[in-house]
Amino acid sequence: MKDLQKRTWAEVSLNNIEHNYRTIRAHIPENTKFLGIVKADAYGHGAVEVAKRLEKCGADYLAIACLDEAIELRKCGVTMPILILGHTPPDYVNLLLENKLTQTVSCEAKAIEYSNAARELGGTLKIHIKLDTGMSRLGYLCADSYFDEGVKNVVSTCNLPNLDVEGVYTHFAVSDFSDEDSIAYTKKQFKLFTDVIRAAEEKGVSFKIRHCANSGAVVNHPEMMLDMVRPGFLLYGYGDEGKLGLKPAMRMVSTVSTIKYYEPQTCISYGRNFVTEKRTRMGVMAAGYADGLPWAAAGKYSFAVEGKSAPQRGNICMDMCMIDLTDIPDASVGSEVEIFGENARIERLAEAAGTIPYELLCAVSKRVPRVYID
Ligand SMILES: *Cc1c(COP(=O)(O)O)cnc(C)c1O
Repeated sequence: MKDLQKRTWAEVSLNNIEHNYRTIRAHIPENTKFLGIVKADAYGHGAVEVAKRLEKCGADYLAIACLDEAIELRKCGVTMPILILGHTPPDYVNLLLENKLTQTVSCEAKAIEYSNAARELGGTLKIHIKLDTGMSRLGYLCADSYFDEGVKNVVSTCNLPNLDVEGVYTHFAVSDFSDEDSIAYTKKQFKLFTDVIRAAEEKGVSFKIRHCANSGAVVNHPEMMLDMVRPGFLLYGYGDEGKLGLKPAMRMVSTVSTIKYYEPQTCISYGRNFVTEKRTRMGVMAAGYADGLPWAAAGKYSFAVEGKSAPQRGNICMDMCMIDLTDIPDASVGSEVEIFGENARIERLAEAAGTIPYELLCAVSKRVPRVYID
């Protein structure tokens, strides 16, 4: 780690991601395809590295959020199918075609625009139709009174020229919750999804890939895996509640840069929100909110240092924060501090900050070098 100034870094284990991939693969039916979600720089793990490893392992598909993310992967030599989950303005259909990207289509009006653009370019755009079955985000409306119109719009999309409708999918709102109400809601979404597909197929269209299972559904609703699963969180080692034996792929590490002793009644950091009660051996850790440490977690979380737990004290600053090393005599300047990883669970840090682990992974900033440890 000599070129990293030994400040703060994020260790990423691609072997753990491969382990998670193989574990999930073993859990899904043999004929079910695997789409790896690598949006948002693969949840902070590095989209190019993760995509290349998944490609090598034999994953079937990748998905990212937007065109730029897809082009980055193509430029780095990733050749496997890539689905864009978000919207791409029809002005960029040339780039979708050139880069052999699959575009999500979320309503009939957009389908018509894509069809027209592809026809003008003399190409055929591969698309997946997205149905809104209850997430109320992107997708063809099809619930309740929208059912017939939804089916009709899906069918007419399938019949547009210069579009190759390869797949149809939907997204769950609460598949990661296992209370009764959430389970019922997910089942209702799934039923609506399959009902729309059946009604459309009765009108003569067909879909090669029907998919809806995100991480929550892979764990809680295995009957919903259909032709392809779409996990993100699981791939990075979280969200299985120990059921599958997944391994977290990222370990965020910082270092102790200074240690000082403070007398009782010394106030610590911005805002003077922490005051020492006794003589305290305080370390300055070289990571702050600009590295991705959540400001909201101040005073509510402990890091792992030399095999012990070091409580964080006072407000978190942009580039540093203070940690109490009074009970860790082995800690010295240069000691590693695990911000999250095997010894300091990211779920606990998320709870302390009032957020979700997903946000913390995505928040590990550009300043934090990713170190691939295997
Ligand atoms: C992000 C995303 C996923 C993956 O969700 P996880 O909870 O990380 O498994 C799947 N599908 C869509 C449409 C998404 O946007």
